[in-house]
Amino acid sequence: MRIGIDLDNTIICYDQLFSSLSEVVGTNKKDVKKDLMAADPSGKLWNQLQAKVYGPELSNARLYPGVVEFFEICKKLDWEIEILSHKTKVSNFDQKTPLRAPAKKFLDSYKIFNEIPVRFFETLDSKIEGIKNGKFDLFIDDLNAVLMHKEFPSSTLGLQAHTVHSFKNIRDLLLEFTLDEIRLLKFRFKNLPYKIKNLESSNSKVCQLYFVNGLSVISKQGDRKELASEYAVIKELENQKVTVIPQAILKIDKSKRYLYSALEGTKIDGCHVGDNEIQQMVDFISKLSEVYSRANVKFPNASYACFSFSDYLSNIERRILNLDTDLEKIDSYVALATSNSARFLNYCNQYGIDIYKKFPKEELILSPSDFGLHNMLRSESGLSFFDFEYFGKDDPAKLMADFYFHLGQNLSIEKRNRFIKKLCASLKQGDAVYARYQLIRRLIGIEWILIALNVFDSNTLARKLEASPLIDVEKLKGERMESAEELQRSIRNLV
Ligand SMILES: [Mg+2]
Repeated sequence: MRIGIDLDNTIICYDQLFSSLSEVVGTNKKDVKKDLMAADPSGKLWNQLQAKVYGPELSNARLYPGVVEFFEICKKLDWEIEILSHKTKVSNFDQKTPLRAPAKKFLDSYKIFNEIPVRFFETLDSKIEGIKNGKFDLFIDDLNAVLMHKEFPSSTLGLQAHTVHSFKNIRDLLLEFTLDEIRLLKFRFKNLPYKIKNLESSNSKVCQLYFVNGLSVISKQGDRKELASEYAVIKELENQKVTVIPQAILKIDKSKRYLYSALEGTKIDGCHVGDNEIQQMVDFISKLSEVYSRANVKFPNASYACFSFSDYLSNIERRILNLDTDLEKIDSYVALATSNSARFLNYCNQYGIDIYKKFPKEELILSPSDFGLHNMLRSESGLSFFDFEYFGKDDPAKLMADFYFHLGQNLSIEKRNRFIKKLCASLKQGDAVYARYQLIRRLIGIEWILIALNVFDSNTLARKLEASPLIDVEKLKGERMESAEELQRSIRNLV
């Protein structure tokens, strides 16, 4: 990548110098100029001050914050930088005051600029010509007069420093996005995010973008198929007038990036969930169930969806096969899973239940799959819901049992049961679903034990470490072992 950068008021900051060398109240270049022009409309005072600041006093100027770090990252990533400055050799106001030599001397006092070419131009037009000839991918300048110039090359992306973008912000932009993406964002949002915040995520790159007009956007990126599925699902739910979810804003196929409106609200702690909020959770799932019953809606199957009892058993088998470890303690859990599956099969044989028979379509729903307080936000207008990576057609009994046993679940048992009963009451085939829930919930509890133990599998652990390299692995393993024990206790306590 080739980057061109302007010098005065882009790299070098003169605000303090303008302020300290004049006797007016303004504290930055713009205000000082305004004050001096008011005091002397001929412009003489202002020109005198400028000659001083850009000439003999220049050595007392400063670099803008983030400039050094920006040049360092460019060097590290092999991005070429050139400095292009519209600066006459001597001051127009005072021909004895050289302007370029002090600027060069100032730059030379910083090691980071040692190998950076600096080119000076007599006029604005010749600087624009220089930008054209430089074939830059990106040009950074403080002046719109440069960036909006009619001859400014369309193949160069212009970014305005300081009024919108700090150097830290420009660095974050370039590290997060490709230039094509930046152009696309600029086109779509009319400006670029002034702040980028990385968000914690266990398996994709997620960040939040903040725009000056108050808009905030979540970006998810990665080539997991779940990310593409989530985007399509959210689009379709929007079409079906489901409102308490993020909006799908933009999909960039080439870079596998998906942008959504950021939901407003705060995280929810299980201790403070009232009846009204449990009702909102039920209403959301009921709404999804209603969408499912409409004709002509296209949704995928949920991840690990269960359409027959044999699917529940296969899921456990798959989880066992994924646990590639020979730890003794894990073996005992695998034995527990196997014996429970066998017991379930015996039960089905005894009561003549065909485990391969598909559940009736009217009893299925659309399920977010990973449904719990961890994927909800609370705001004044109520709860909203996010994370639809595993969303799709599924058995509501599975959603209920997953809600009950989820590792992150911190609602009281009583409130979990209240959610499940209320949900069944809202579903057309609620009685049949509840009867099935009672049959399969132990299997789902066992499955959650196996999910808790997946950090003992080297492949799963490697994936987690890739998404969050700072995880304390031993601590995580200890916590998951505790979760497995607790799950085993709560399976035993099922009534
Ligand atoms: Mg400038």
